[in-house]
Amino acid sequence: MDPDALPLSRAGIDRAAHLRPGGDHLRAALADGATRVLLVSDGAVVTSTGPRVALLEPAQAAHLAGMAGTAGADGTERMDDADDGGWLLLGRGEAGEAYLARRVAQRRPAPPVGVPSDVLVHPVPAGPDPTPERRALPDGLTWTPLRDMGAELSADDAGLATTAVALDGWHARHPRCPRCGARTRVAQSGWTRVCVADASEHYPRTDPAVIMAVVDADDRILLGHAAQWAEGRWSTLAGFVEPGESLEHAVRREVAEEAGVVVGAVSYRGSQPWPFPASLMIGFRATAETTDARADGVELTEVRWFTRGELADAVRAGDVIPPGRASIARALVEEWFGGPLS
Ligand SMILES: [Zn+2]
Repeated sequence: MDPDALPLSRAGIDRAAHLRPGGDHLRAALADGATRVLLVSDGAVVTSTGPRVALLEPAQAAHLAGMAGTAGADGTERMDDADDGGWLLLGRGEAGEAYLARRVAQRRPAPPVGVPSDVLVHPVPAGPDPTPERRALPDGLTWTPLRDMGAELSADDAGLATTAVALDGWHARHPRCPRCGARTRVAQSGWTRVCVADASEHYPRTDPAVIMAVVDADDRILLGHAAQWAEGRWSTLAGFVEPGESLEHAVRREVAEEAGVVVGAVSYRGSQPWPFPASLMIGFRATAETTDARADGVELTEVRWFTRGELADAVRAGDVIPPGRASIARALVEEWFGGPLS
């Protein structure tokens, strides 16, 4: 599987990690008119028509972020200068220009009780609308969830937006030290948090998850439907890798748990960052050794084998909605199918 065929896996710009320490490059970039900045908040970035990621000059980004409201009186983070985590150094372009992300805080209510903090298979329950402040943008600019437009972005835009959404989400969810609970400060141009009490360093998290096209001896594919999904939505099986587990074991365990099917050979196909909120999806083709499939009733309410003809007919009739175009699930299904699904 070609990584460039996966929308959110495109390489994008040079990350230039050697420019992060000390923050000097970030501070200099804020004073450089050639620097370009994207605005990021809670899985969304500001876009212009196209869609294109809106790349702004630092002063304009600061102005718009200010309009969006970053005051800390109600407990949200203040993000006012280069050292407070409001600005993230994403990388540099071919002419050496810096690319930054400006985080825009939201006044969010407390998360709902009892909902997992990291959700993979099931969509995150719909949150409240963004605050009116966050929506205040000039004509032609709009907040767009990365998940909705990932398949339509250029490689550079996709790389910038995916990195910005992933990093912003990590900062938002990890304000405190996991060792002692003290406050942390941002370092390394937005790529590290350091505990103010014990000086321990903490790095952005990525949670590995396996996702697999399970295919049987008759070349049928196994797809599942989750209760929380829209009616008709079917996708490949997927799940988080557990501590102490190899990727191959995770594939076999998840398929057994969710569908009761025994998997033999497992082969790697490709990977995709999936920052909703912090996953790396690692894609496989898995060979089924049994075909008696039954949904676990917990994560999935239905599982079913499809031949190519059955899937094509079901998609055409509108009975099956395939995975979204930005997802590796779609790529895995289409690789098996032998071409675009619709
Ligand atoms: Zn600490």
